Amino acid sequence: MDQSKVTLSCADCGKRVETLPTITSFQEQEVYLFHPVVCVDCLIKTCKQYSTICVNCGEIILPYSQVGVLKGNDGESQFVHMTTSCLTVGSAFHGYWGKGQLLDFLEIEAC
Ligand SMILES: [Zn+2]
Ligand SMILES: [Zn+2]
Repeated sequence: MDQSKVTLSCADCGKRVETLPTITSFQEQEVYLFHPVVCVDCLIKTCKQYSTICVNCGEIILPYSQVGVLKGNDGESQFVHMTTSCLTVGSAFHGYWGKGQLLDFLEIEAC
């Protein structure tokens, strides 16, 4: 047994994953994913199903990335990229965008 090789399997379909991070490109954005471990096929599938749109720049926000959260007028959450150009001062929250829902939803203390 080769101890240096770790056997990884896709968290979604169980298929063997040879290398980390899982790298693909989706809608001209490079995706590098270390966690969770998923195969390229499942990563693309997840991107198609669960990506959302940045309300600031209109570009796609991919699953498994950090997002800024804005409260819309109708009480619905809106999402922006966690970049200085998209994350405006008005953002009250940030979180981790998972599969179509927010994970680790945190409120930033207003000062
Ligand atoms: Zn898979
Ligand atoms: Zn943006």
